[in-house]
Amino acid sequence: MSAFSMLPETHKMLQQTLRDFSDNELKPIAAKLDREGTFPEDAIRKLGDLGVMAIEVPEELGGAGLDYLAYAVAMEEVSRGCASTGVCVSVNNSLYMTPLLKNATEEQKQKWIVPFTNGERVGCFGLTEPGNGSDAGAASTTAVDAGDHWVLNGAKMWITNGYEAEASIVFATTDKSKKHKGISAFLVPKPTPGLSLGKKEDKLGIRASSTCQLIFEDCVVPKENILGNPGNGFKIAMETLDAGRIGIAGQAIGIAQAAFECALDYSGKRESFGQPICKLQTIQNKLADMEVRIQSARLLNYHAAMLKDSGKPYSKEAACAKLAASETATFVSHQAIQVLGGMGYVSDMPAERHYRDARITEIYEGTSEIMRLVIANNLLKEYQVL
Ligand SMILES: Cc1cc2nc3c(=O)[nH]c(=O)nc-3n(C[C@H](O)[C@H](O)[C@H](O)COP(=O)(O)OP(=O)(O)OC[C@H]3O[C@@H](n4cnc5c(N)ncnc54)[C@H](O)[C@@H]3O)c2cc1C
Repeated sequence: MSAFSMLPETHKMLQQTLRDFSDNELKPIAAKLDREGTFPEDAIRKLGDLGVMAIEVPEELGGAGLDYLAYAVAMEEVSRGCASTGVCVSVNNSLYMTPLLKNATEEQKQKWIVPFTNGERVGCFGLTEPGNGSDAGAASTTAVDAGDHWVLNGAKMWITNGYEAEASIVFATTDKSKKHKGISAFLVPKPTPGLSLGKKEDKLGIRASSTCQLIFEDCVVPKENILGNPGNGFKIAMETLDAGRIGIAGQAIGIAQAAFECALDYSGKRESFGQPICKLQTIQNKLADMEVRIQSARLLNYHAAMLKDSGKPYSKEAACAKLAASETATFVSHQAIQVLGGMGYVSDMPAERHYRDARITEIYEGTSEIMRLVIANNLLKEYQVL
């Protein structure tokens, strides 16, 4: 019995649909996508047809009209089949759609949400810069008010979907004297004059998703493309990342689940000293530890998503879920290789890919160190320690 059994009927149906999709459409191509570093275009289109590229977006704007619990479930199932596809889904949903849903005008929603719901187009999110990542408030990209338009200069680094995206949300300083309160968010179409792309990064894992720099050189952005009020960019970015962490936790749990299933299956088939290795207590201990960590992370993530869906504060819980899930992905994929022995170390089996894919979940959308900071800061407030 797993935590899935506690889900509402709609979510159970979504989970089963995506589990089948993962098994039939993603698992068979994941190794090839990883090897060749190709964007999973067909899978993204099909996921668009299933409503997975815009889960939280209301139906009248072309989305699935579901909630963040559904998003957590979807991210897990997609990433169980292919973690690269998982990150492409997560960026479009939580880094691109979520801030638009909360901050865009009706006109902006029609232009920037509707065409990005069905998997034909994807968006991206440009916060990190070459000079600052965890310290997002130190953005040095600037946006100057030039009367009827903005002029952007600077560079954004490590941007997922950077090559394929046809729109980006870009954070730039409009008033340096106000530090992070002088950062604003902009909607930048791609391609657009003055915006070029850096090289496609050669990564350890999630290799089928593109990651690159967005370089702005006197890039002209129409006046109406500001998202929310001037100076609200940092707040928008932080709220977006709080929500996004539920998606990355889902991705990490999916990777862990895939590694676990691989190890479990192998342990029943591989014999050593005349018996399947799953009969050895040392292997059983590993399987038990994997299961406990996966189930715990899943429950933490459901809790964070349910708090968000009910309009309650969830920043600490999302950080707890992301921290637990990403460290679980690293732990489980590491143990899975151990269960497979030599076969875990070669690309004939998926365990080595899961191990490489797991690692990023401890880095993006807030490193594990930053998650601990977020959790501790919330605890100090909650318990009125300071
Ligand atoms: C594959 C990939 C995809 C990405 N996709 C995107 C994207 O789509 N959009 C986007 O905007 N960004 C994206 N990022 C950027 C990602 O969010 C950052 O890499 C991450 O936030 C860490 O920033 P950094 O790499 O600059 O590390 P740094 O901030 O330089 O951190 C280096 C180390 O110092 C630690 N550290 C830093 N500050 C503190 C502190 N105050 N306390 C304790 N420890 C600290 C960190 O935890 C880390 O261990 C992506 C990154 C990668 C690798």
